Amino acid sequence: MSELDQKITGFDVWHLALPVTSRRDHGIGTVEDTCEIVVLRLTAEGGAQGWGEGSPWSVFTGSPEASFAALDRYLRPLVLGRRVSDRAAIMADALYAVAHATEAKAALESALLDLSGQITGLPAHAFLGGKCRDRIPLSVSIANPDFEQDRALLDRLVEDGIGLIKLKAGFRDHAFDIMRLEQIARDYPSLSVRVDYNQGLAPDEAPARVTDVAQFKPDFIEQPVRAHHFGLMRTLRGMIDVPLLADESVFGPEDMMRATAEGICDGVSVKIMKSGGLSRAQQVAAIAAANGLTAYGGDMFESGLAHLAGAHMIAATPAITLGCEFYQASYFLAEDILDMPFQVDAGQVIVPDTPGLGARPDMGRIARYAQAGPA
Ligand SMILES: [Mg+2]
Repeated sequence: MSELDQKITGFDVWHLALPVTSRRDHGIGTVEDTCEIVVLRLTAEGGAQGWGEGSPWSVFTGSPEASFAALDRYLRPLVLGRRVSDRAAIMADALYAVAHATEAKAALESALLDLSGQITGLPAHAFLGGKCRDRIPLSVSIANPDFEQDRALLDRLVEDGIGLIKLKAGFRDHAFDIMRLEQIARDYPSLSVRVDYNQGLAPDEAPARVTDVAQFKPDFIEQPVRAHHFGLMRTLRGMIDVPLLADESVFGPEDMMRATAEGICDGVSVKIMKSGGLSRAQQVAAIAAANGLTAYGGDMFESGLAHLAGAHMIAATPAITLGCEFYQASYFLAEDILDMPFQVDAGQVIVPDTPGLGARPDMGRIARYAQAGPA
């Protein structure tokens, strides 16, 4: 019997509210004061533990309450008593056991991978095909409605060796977006800029605004209009000569198939929280690559625990070539939950090679920020 054949005997879920240091405005909504996540801890019969995070946002993927309930009520019975080695079968059952709840499924697969790694001594990426890169370029989002505060952040980013930024646009007027693009091009010429509207533009204003922004030659323009406006995405793509990325339009592999068939984008933001796990995120990237599209490693409002899961997934996915955006642990949360810092060096995320995800939450911080969970 393999050591991975031991049964899973413990399943504990917490809902956490983590204080943040600044306000973030995106096209579809605002995050301020706290970022809410769910955290899952699995325990195997030999005592090993594996951790995973679900990072919902109510206007984008779903609510923390739904993520908590999906794990606590609907996914728990699929997991307890199963073998650690049953990961693929458990995830296949989870896919249709509760509709949507993709962040909860990402937490579950992250915890199963971490548990497998803790038992075997292997890093999580070894279970996803093995790593093809040791470092992932980090993009930090500029999303503060007070641009003076973001200029202070930009100074810090340049000092830290960050080379990529993503300007969050479309949450105020067009002049505000153009002013920020002009100042960044003038005062921070070392930075590569991406622009993300997070669905913020109305159909009638999108063509003119996107065409204007394309004049700045950003690396790409991301999701200018609502997720379901596939036809409009395709039209906008045809109007500009910079790549158009889909984010909210593409959650899982099924959406990626439709997006490629309808020609709505040149690339895709791949997120474990949208796809419902790391394996399905790899499928999204593979479909994109097979159709000649590029892929970027996106994230949600997360702690370092979810960043680690995403970093292992990207490390093992050759097609994700445009870097990642795991910046919240270093530049947004007042305090991360990990027991060691999420590793970023010279503008790049360092892929861990230690067992499992490579770090675990500090129990004192879980207790401090818990809104709900085991006593
Ligand atoms: Mg996006």
